[in-house]
Amino acid sequence: MEEQGGQAAFGWAARDATGVLSPYSFSTRVPKDDDVTIKVLYCGICHTDLHIIKNDWGNAMYPVVPGHEIVGVVTGVGGGVTRFKAGDTVGVGYFVGSCRSCDSCGKGNENYCAGVVPTSNGVDHAHGGVPTKGGFSDVIVVNEHYVVRVPDGLALDRTAPLLCAGVTVYSPMMRHGLNEPGKHLGVVGLGGLGHVAVKFGKAFGMKVTVISTSASKRQEAIENLGADEFLISRDPEQMKAATGTMDGIIDTVSAWHPITPLLALLKPLGEMVIVGGPSKPLELPAYAFVPGGKGVVGSNVGSVGDCQAMLEFAGKHGIGAEVEVIKMDYVNTAIERLEKNDVRYRFVIDVAGSLGSAA
Ligand code: NAP
Ligand code: ZN
Repeated sequence: MEEQGGQAAFGWAARDATGVLSPYSFSTRVPKDDDVTIKVLYCGICHTDLHIIKNDWGNAMYPVVPGHEIVGVVTGVGGGVTRFKAGDTVGVGYFVGSCRSCDSCGKGNENYCAGVVPTSNGVDHAHGGVPTKGGFSDVIVVNEHYVVRVPDGLALDRTAPLLCAGVTVYSPMMRHGLNEPGKHLGVVGLGGLGHVAVKFGKAFGMKVTVISTSASKRQEAIENLGADEFLISRDPEQMKAATGTMDGIIDTVSAWHPITPLLALLKPLGEMVIVGGPSKPLELPAYAFVPGGKGVVGSNVGSVGDCQAMLEFAGKHGIGAEVEVIKMDYVNTAIERLEKNDVRYRFVIDVAGSLGSAA
């Protein structure tokens, strides 16, 4: 058992690169004055959790307690906490710390701070340097600066995935003008991130085309998610017919895939935002983007401010993820299914409703 001197905590952890999760006892860090203690209610399973527990990115620090799409209720606050009180419904996303003094932090872009501390599998030097433990556990202690408020009226299970998937697509859409009515947005990969991008795009009044490898998702994409068109990325005829039609593309694909055919879909000066994290390098030939003056840009989650704004927007427009709610003891099956692209469109663990019984 790993001790940090705080409250007893119980979650599920991966012990090695098989990624298999099993029950794990530890303790939280000792709460400081500016900390909020949160009872975890729901936690989404992001493909990043899968990459990390299987050590796809070579950075796993086992035991890894995954989870960074957290919705919970505040159970305690330190004396210096000003924004939250016990009983508040709150969210925690991909990170729980940053240096607070660099240029990025000064501009409110904590997500681009070199010292950003991921919620799970991160090293929190300001708090003892023990790897952080995420939301696949019953309790988490977080500095209030990295906690967001969940607006009233949102379904909590459907909101959990917004804390990472939601802000990861919302933030670059806002930054790159992919929030303007009438513009044409392409969304590559209809998974956890992609399906939320479709919903935001439609709420912004855009034309949205899904670019997918899964023909079986076409009907749902159009009828349930509101997409206008659906292209099969491996069908050269369909792709050719859409050449030069899109103002911007969000690429959410988790595995290696060719991006040259995607860049061909952009209008001149259009931009493709890559948010997926394939472990194998993508190929970017100059001819695919230089002649059209096209941009290829990355984006990493979003700031705390972006996350709060995204939740307010979701609250106003009734946006939530499409979820399959599971108990903790189903988590290994869920991860296997996520790996096989067998989820519509996000698994969410009912943490509070299942951890006790799974112990
Ligand atoms: P996900 O639910 O598994 O969705 C990924 C989608 O990619 C799949 O649904 C599938 O869509 C498509 N896909 C999978 N394998 C493919 C292949 N070989 N070729 C083409 N398309 C393929 O994953 P997610 O949770 O949305 O995460 C997606 C990626 O974003 C992951 O790499 C994750 O680590 C990363 N991520 C990044 C950030 C960030 O801040 N930048 C934040 C969160 C997640 P179709 O069936 O429609 O083809
Ligand atoms: Zn994530």
